[in-house]
Amino acid sequence: MSRKIHIYGNWKMNQLTSDIYQFFEELEDDKLAELKCQAGIAPQFPHLSLVKEKALTLGIKVGGQNCSHKNSGAFTGDTSPETLKDLELDFVLIGHSERRTVFNESNELINEKTLLALSLGLEVVFCIGETLEERESNKTFEVLKAQLDEGLKGLPKEKQSDIIIAYEPVWAIGTGVVASPPQAQEAHAFIREHLGSKHGFDEKSLIIQYGGSVKPGNALGLLSLPDIDGALVGGASLKPSDFYELLKVGSELTP
Ligand code: PEP
Repeated sequence: MSRKIHIYGNWKMNQLTSDIYQFFEELEDDKLAELKCQAGIAPQFPHLSLVKEKALTLGIKVGGQNCSHKNSGAFTGDTSPETLKDLELDFVLIGHSERRTVFNESNELINEKTLLALSLGLEVVFCIGETLEERESNKTFEVLKAQLDEGLKGLPKEKQSDIIIAYEPVWAIGTGVVASPPQAQEAHAFIREHLGSKHGFDEKSLIIQYGGSVKPGNALGLLSLPDIDGALVGGASLKPSDFYELLKVGSELTP
């Protein structure tokens, strides 16, 4: 494996200010300095500046969990990608399954957000994944293909290297049910091949994270697979000791 492992934590709607201070107190700076993988954290919007300040010297990237499809205007409650850039953030998650299902985000809207965020220089963690029903009716690849083709439509060639794909089977997110290594590897290989042959991505450098109940106990088995280059982690990223363990596994596998 020649790609750097990328382990990003999605804190979702969790962590209060005191939890964040404690989290960074428990993450030991000197140990983090030895890590070779790329770490990232996506906290809630009001905590972005605090987390950015805390993470700055640790080499941890910080990003939003979502962004608007517009840069400014009458969009009450939304946060523009331009504002994320203004706060000197590194990345934004787009198309997380909770945005797709709870907030009914379509591939078309996700496409608009992705192109706008990329145009501003943000890295985009583009999340895709099938539901259990879709998997059981043998529609996994069809669904992944539509999410990629519609969500990445019109993507300029020079922005391809600013995209990380997060493959997150919906049935594995927050459920404790992790995809088996063969299931995950098969989906990742499909995504890599599809983006290479149909979208002209450089397959060798494309980073594809796996997400869905990743824990220190199952990380090595997944991250050692040839097409898995990292993890997008919900629950286990909230606990500094677990997050650190995941970063340690990622570093051991980073060349
Ligand atoms: C996620 O939120 O993207 C996720 C994968 O959550 P969890 O690790 O808790 O399953």
